[in-house]
Amino acid sequence: MYDKFNRKINYLRISVTDRCNLRCTYCMPAEGIQLMQHQDILSFDEITELVKYAVNLGVDKVRITGGEPLVRKNIVELVKMIAEIKGIKDLAMTTNGIFLKQLAQPLADAGLHRVNISLDTVNPERYHQITRLGEIKLVFQGIEAAQKAGLNPIKINCVVKKSSAEPDAVEVSKFCKNNNLQIRYIKEMNLEDGIFSQVEGGTGGNCSICNRLRLTSNGDIMPCLFSDIKFNIRELGIKNAIESALLNKPKSGHVAVKSKFYNIGG
Ligand code: SAM
Ligand code: SF4
Repeated sequence: MYDKFNRKINYLRISVTDRCNLRCTYCMPAEGIQLMQHQDILSFDEITELVKYAVNLGVDKVRITGGEPLVRKNIVELVKMIAEIKGIKDLAMTTNGIFLKQLAQPLADAGLHRVNISLDTVNPERYHQITRLGEIKLVFQGIEAAQKAGLNPIKINCVVKKSSAEPDAVEVSKFCKNNNLQIRYIKEMNLEDGIFSQVEGGTGGNCSICNRLRLTSNGDIMPCLFSDIKFNIRELGIKNAIESALLNKPKSGHVAVKSKFYNIGG
């Protein structure tokens, strides 16, 4: 499928929950968030139906994210349902890795191809500070389990304040080299007051070749991370919501949006 600026759209990012077992300082407030009502969260059947429709229109790259996707109940079942859809060449997940020790192998067996794991420091105290709740040992064990399960290439998402030369990032980079992991630096965006802006050198910076649509856990299709425009698949129906998203995908994104990363998955 193509948007009105003739950009080919083949990448769908799905946020399967707004919930998370961590409270990273740059992502969520310490006290947690106003959670969505259960009935507003899409069912596995609804998500799968949307993915099927999108794959028919040319999507061949799907990423499952959150919130923390591994806290969604029966996530392995959802991965299996999505993996069974013919035409997906790349099925990935972004996770904080805490539950990968138990779930990496079942996820691989269900058909997940690969994972991105978030890790901003290799220092246990710093990790606990940044995530407010996390125990780094579990992430290391999760990475090991992902390697054993063959969820390759494993990429490490490392949030930096300004540059990859910061001490934490340098240590994460060494850890990646030693453990055959790819590192991907993400510049921290300021979400205070619900505002985030495009950060130079940040991910998704190149609007002219943007190939993405996003689906939030409550069924909004969002054509742009840097815009509040959204079309709900329950209200509009899948066909209408996708068509409207394509028609309204901005040429480039702007600042000042109300959406949150833990809802749209970054
Ligand atoms: N919970 C999973 C995780 O942390 O990997 C998936 C969802 S999380 C919202 C997706 C990515 O967004 C993570 O790599 C996280 O580090 C990044 N992220 C969250 N808040 C951010 C911010 N303010 N600026 C830049 N990246 C951010
Ligand atoms: Fe949770 Fe991921 Fe946000 Fe951290 S970045 S609070 S792990 S959703």
